[in-house]
Amino acid sequence: MSATPSTLAGRREQVAASLRARLPDGCVLSDPEDTRPYECDGLAAYRQLPMIVTLPTSEEEVLAILDTCRELNVPIVPRGAGTGLSGGALPIADGVVLSTARLNRIVRLDAYARTAVVQPGVRNLAISEAASQYGLYYAPDPSSQIACTIGGNVAENSGGVHCLKYGLTVHNVLRVRVATIEGEIIELGSEALDAPGLDLLSVFIGSEGMLGIVTEVTVKLVPKPAVAQVVMASFDDVITAGNAVASIIAAGIIPAGLEMMDRTSVRMVEPFVRAGYDLDAAAILLCEADGTALEVAEEIERMKTVFEGAGATAIAVSQSELERMRFWSGRKNAFPAAGRISPDYYCMDGTIPRKQLARVLQGIEDMENTFGLRCSNVFHAGDGNMHPLILFDANQPGEFERAEAFGAAILALCVEVGGTITGEHGVGMEKINSMCVQFGRKELDAFFDVKRAFDAPMLLNPDKAIPTPHRCAEFGKMHVHGGELPFPDLPRF
Ligand SMILES: Cc1cc2nc3c(=O)[nH]c(=O)nc-3n(C[C@H](O)[C@H](O)[C@H](O)COP(=O)(O)OP(=O)(O)OC[C@H]3O[C@@H](n4cnc5c(N)ncnc54)[C@H](O)[C@@H]3O)c2cc1C
Repeated sequence: MSATPSTLAGRREQVAASLRARLPDGCVLSDPEDTRPYECDGLAAYRQLPMIVTLPTSEEEVLAILDTCRELNVPIVPRGAGTGLSGGALPIADGVVLSTARLNRIVRLDAYARTAVVQPGVRNLAISEAASQYGLYYAPDPSSQIACTIGGNVAENSGGVHCLKYGLTVHNVLRVRVATIEGEIIELGSEALDAPGLDLLSVFIGSEGMLGIVTEVTVKLVPKPAVAQVVMASFDDVITAGNAVASIIAAGIIPAGLEMMDRTSVRMVEPFVRAGYDLDAAAILLCEADGTALEVAEEIERMKTVFEGAGATAIAVSQSELERMRFWSGRKNAFPAAGRISPDYYCMDGTIPRKQLARVLQGIEDMENTFGLRCSNVFHAGDGNMHPLILFDANQPGEFERAEAFGAAILALCVEVGGTITGEHGVGMEKINSMCVQFGRKELDAFFDVKRAFDAPMLLNPDKAIPTPHRCAEFGKMHVHGGELPFPDLPRF
């Protein structure tokens, strides 16, 4: 192996030359002008120009990149569409970004077995579009589904509006092919409903690019429901709306989607989308029923009864497919709409037990005063998966720092009430400090042991998702005596 050059430019030249020797023309970008578009993901507050970007077109090329990087000890950041909201695809200054943009083929669609085999760069929505001719679709539907890739969905265990009834990515993926840092292909899971041995597929799903590169995914397809209708219920305070969510589930109803938007969100989105939302409401709930016409009619009546009993001030039911889509369009466009009323926003992602919704919403309202920033709430209420959008202006000195502190306080409250610091957006860079709040050292060590078992040289997406003892000490959760960290053998990155 040649010596490691001492400058970044020298290192770039060395690694790019080695990669170019193994990959076809056009697969390696090393000019900063070409790599600039990869400097951040959806969490644009964090940016880092990568040393090199690779664009493999086959599994063999993925393996060649991994071999080269392992031999030269170069960290690798996998990247799908870059829509992640936690900085998971944030590059490393002396690292290689491995983009799956060109691995975008649907390999096989089996309508009889109700499965699709796809490359990792296939867009989430493209799977449902391809399956539509057979009356089938892929159920997990992140709001970013028009752009985000199935590889990114697997890495983040992504969810969406329909996951309350149909499950998250982990419940809808049967098998993944993975390229390991050792340059091997392994298959986790199988096309059968269960596989012998330890369930490594579940370990891998949600591992945020730290264990291997997904090169192929087999997903389940489900039949499109014959009918779907949505109830829109208004409430005059968020606490009552939060309690109404708990009442729906307590009544034994499993809606196809159950989402909440508070007044700030409704007023933010309505002029943008004209979804027909109640501008006087303090909060609205969108609650969907799907199934046969009979099942839907019966469930809609039950939903209306629960909402009336829970104090709804107005109720509307979609009367056509067009109206149903219109009701949802507001919810699906809530994030883009935030850009119309605030120069910047910071999207949080914590999950709490449903019965704590009212308490946490009240807590967030109180924090708006403490931190002097507005926050709009639009989220998967049925799952207890909250997405507070903290509105701020990065050009105002101190506002970004206050937004970060506000976000950390929300996550701490989520943990306090028995929840978690992420529901579906992952930990990435953004929530790495909050991991020190949620987990003790022994749990974090166990995570590192799993990481090491898959990636002994620690080259795959290092410094993300699992905090080192050093980081937790700096964050103030760990008592460090005399400046000596426990577990000195653990990597410091
Ligand atoms: C407007 C908007 C709405 C959103 N709504 C939702 C939502 O409703 N639900 C939800 O869950 N998320 C949502 N997200 C977040 C984001 O879209 C998801 O996390 C999505 O799964 C990311 O996919 P991606 O292809 O963009 O991955 P990227 O952002 O490129 O990467 C995400 C992570 O996956 C890793 N990765 C990517 N590809 C691979 C691979 N082939 N092998 C191994 N690791 C890989 C990366 O290293 C990174 O850690 C939203 C984002 C936006 C911008």
